[in-house]
Amino acid sequence: MSKRDYYDVLGVSKNATDAELKKAYRKLAKQYHPDVNKDANAEEKFKEINEAYETLSDSQKRANYDQFGHAGANGNFSGFEGFQGGFGGFEDIFSNMFGGGFSSSSRRHTGPMQGENRYMYMDISFMDSVNGREEDITLRVDEECKHCHGTGADSKSDLTHCSRCNGRGVIQEQQRSMFGIIMNERVCPDCNGKGKQIKTKCRECHGDGYTNKKVTINLKIPAGIQHGQALRVPKRGHKGINGGPNGDLIIEIRVSQHQHFKRDGNDIYLEVPISAIDAMLGTKVDVPTVYGEVTITIPEGTQHGSKLRLAEKGIKTERNVGDQYVIIRIEVPKNLPNNMKKQLEKARQEMNDNPFNKFKKLFK
Ligand SMILES: [Zn+2]
Ligand SMILES: [Zn+2]
Repeated sequence: MSKRDYYDVLGVSKNATDAELKKAYRKLAKQYHPDVNKDANAEEKFKEINEAYETLSDSQKRANYDQFGHAGANGNFSGFEGFQGGFGGFEDIFSNMFGGGFSSSSRRHTGPMQGENRYMYMDISFMDSVNGREEDITLRVDEECKHCHGTGADSKSDLTHCSRCNGRGVIQEQQRSMFGIIMNERVCPDCNGKGKQIKTKCRECHGDGYTNKKVTINLKIPAGIQHGQALRVPKRGHKGINGGPNGDLIIEIRVSQHQHFKRDGNDIYLEVPISAIDAMLGTKVDVPTVYGEVTITIPEGTQHGSKLRLAEKGIKTERNVGDQYVIIRIEVPKNLPNNMKKQLEKARQEMNDNPFNKFKKLFK
């Protein structure tokens, strides 16, 4: 059964304030409390209400839920935003990686500026990293308002030069101090630094200049992606300033470890147990690879720890393909039946090649 939308559960709009959420929750909780309501579905309903409120009353969880739905609220794909502040040079690392860092200090206050990049991460399985994966992710993005093109004014004629700052966005003030008069510059309070004033606010965005939209992004995770690699989705980051473009959305991919396949560069390592007898006599086994099973020959006299190479069964990327290495682990049986012990005892007598005896001779 698919989960109901949490906002629907509480009967509030997506823009509901915390107070509105609380009010709606209290009303419904009273109504469906199993102590009060003897209806058969009341308990189920009460649980649903509590779950919805628990998520929506927590701002972080609510943001995740808004962006990714129930999956986001459960945390398997969650916002990365919280890291931005505490993470120090994180943004710089990315700027270098992708070229084209952006410095806000060099731009004029009233000019268009690109918005900040937005960082998120996404957890994928090992097999998804091998095969690649397409995923539609839904998130809320602030987009430039189509009606006013970000100016916030209902029409061109509603947009006038700010008379207080004469369009500069900043005003100069004289300040007296013990050293005489100082000229002080500050952001124009009439236009908030935009340099423009609006006579009639845009009917679509009410003067904000942007609208908060739910957008679906088809994210193509390329085959062979490595843990920690990031994907860049242009213009889906935080909104631009003064009509500038949105920043980019940067999604760091985190690959969970596979239980058996281990990746090293584009090669895959797999440990395979075989019996001591198979190692002595040789055999054929079907070993798993990420592309299905492959029959390999274990040669007669295979040693513990031997490495067998399966060409081009490693990770395929756009430029490269790795190999798979099968590491043989020989398992010695523990509880042999008596008749087999006798046969092996006979074999021991006949065997004249004894590695330990050879080894001991080295010490004489
Ligand atoms: Zn508008
Ligand atoms: Zn002004």
